[in-house]
Amino acid sequence: MLAVNPMAHSRLRLPSILLVLLFAGTVGCATTVPYTGAGPHPQIERGKPNRVVDGIGNFFGCIGKLVLWNHKINEHYVSPEVESKIVAYLDSRNDLPMLEETKVRLNQYRPLKDWGRLVHNKQVKWPYRLVFGTLSMVVETILPGRLFAGSDYFNPWTNTVHLYSDLSPVALHEVGHAYDTSHRKHKGTYAFIYIIPFVPLHHELMASKEAFRFVRDTRDRDAEISSYKLLYPAYGSYVGSYIGGGGYIAAVVLGHVVGRSEAKERLEYYQKIESGALPAPADQKSSAKPALSTP
Ligand SMILES: [Zn+2]
Repeated sequence: MLAVNPMAHSRLRLPSILLVLLFAGTVGCATTVPYTGAGPHPQIERGKPNRVVDGIGNFFGCIGKLVLWNHKINEHYVSPEVESKIVAYLDSRNDLPMLEETKVRLNQYRPLKDWGRLVHNKQVKWPYRLVFGTLSMVVETILPGRLFAGSDYFNPWTNTVHLYSDLSPVALHEVGHAYDTSHRKHKGTYAFIYIIPFVPLHHELMASKEAFRFVRDTRDRDAEISSYKLLYPAYGSYVGSYIGGGGYIAAVVLGHVVGRSEAKERLEYYQKIESGALPAPADQKSSAKPALSTP
């Protein structure tokens, strides 16, 4: 992730030099959209739109838009369509106590509430919450993602997903982190080892696999195609962060190339099914097509 919260799990990692370049040369891509919601859900809350705050947030999020080549990254607005997919996901994975307690904040800043969630998050042992959870909340409080978000992220210490992008693959990846953590026996340890170099590659892979699993299980073909285009280069940003410099850019570009190639292949496969050139699989979950590798 962009250096906003060192103890949170995110989909995008950006070197600081790119941030400097952004500030040096780009104009803001600010946009603000009217408030709409998908209806009440006990686990989801939505921040009130604010043209100034969201405009600044869009500016700070521009580098993420460039890296993942999508203007909806860090848009500081989450549409009812994306919200409805989060609802569907949460309702489909309702057998894990920690996931049932996960809060999803859509472009919302509620530090006092999240400090409370840190105190009461009994799913993670208290020493982890005391040390790393406190650190994460200090960062979240001082550098609110509503303004400075370098990316969407999951905070395992407060068990809260923070979303700023209007993209269902990104949203499903972040709640995928919550799911992945929820079914671990030692949740605090699992969250803690994220700070060890290269370990995030495992966590990020698990979250993206969960996102792909959901869009395939629900036969959400548009979201599946978008997932290749977004989650592959996002994973490339993690790999590239351990290489640095030109290696970072190369890894992201490679993610775009491979992701778009996979998206094209999958789209052609679906088009052949729709045209009758290929038989429709009896069950998407056990599709005859060999499983594509997922980040
Ligand atoms: Zn992630």
